[in-house]
Amino acid sequence: MTEKDKGKGQSWEELFWKSHKYNERVNIKSGSYLRSFCPHCEKELTRNNVIHLEVIGPNDESGWIELSPYLNTFDRKTDIKLPEAQEVKDLRCPHCHESLKIEGRHCGNGDAHVAGFLVGISNIRVPFFICMREGCHWHAIAPDDEGKIILDDSHEW
Ligand SMILES: [Zn+2]
Ligand SMILES: [Zn+2]
Repeated sequence: MTEKDKGKGQSWEELFWKSHKYNERVNIKSGSYLRSFCPHCEKELTRNNVIHLEVIGPNDESGWIELSPYLNTFDRKTDIKLPEAQEVKDLRCPHCHESLKIEGRHCGNGDAHVAGFLVGISNIRVPFFICMREGCHWHAIAPDDEGKIILDDSHEW
């Protein structure tokens, strides 16, 4: 963990939010293509049109998982067996191998930890969170951003 070395007491969420605080509201439509970036090394996580992450399974097995980069499209592929309804131990950046798990934050369904990375929308990047429990489709933009960014999430309407 070298996160402390980089910031000046700011979390990466704050750093990235500041750069676009004066922007107008952005409405992200279902099916929007989201470019994804590691919050640690800032390298792009999207590869060949999928979000490619390292995954540590419930029994410490390591592999990869691929997520759809299209908002509200929940296709997942992985090379390890992930039991339905079980939480994965970790999701990591495939470039710098830092954990994307956010300590102290939980899924909106209250059932699991979440992982976070940055998504690019127009020319801004905002924190985006996904549930780490297999089968749960909960995802969100950082709470601070909710007034400015509207997720077009048909489940919520
Ligand atoms: Zn990284
Ligand atoms: Zn969940």
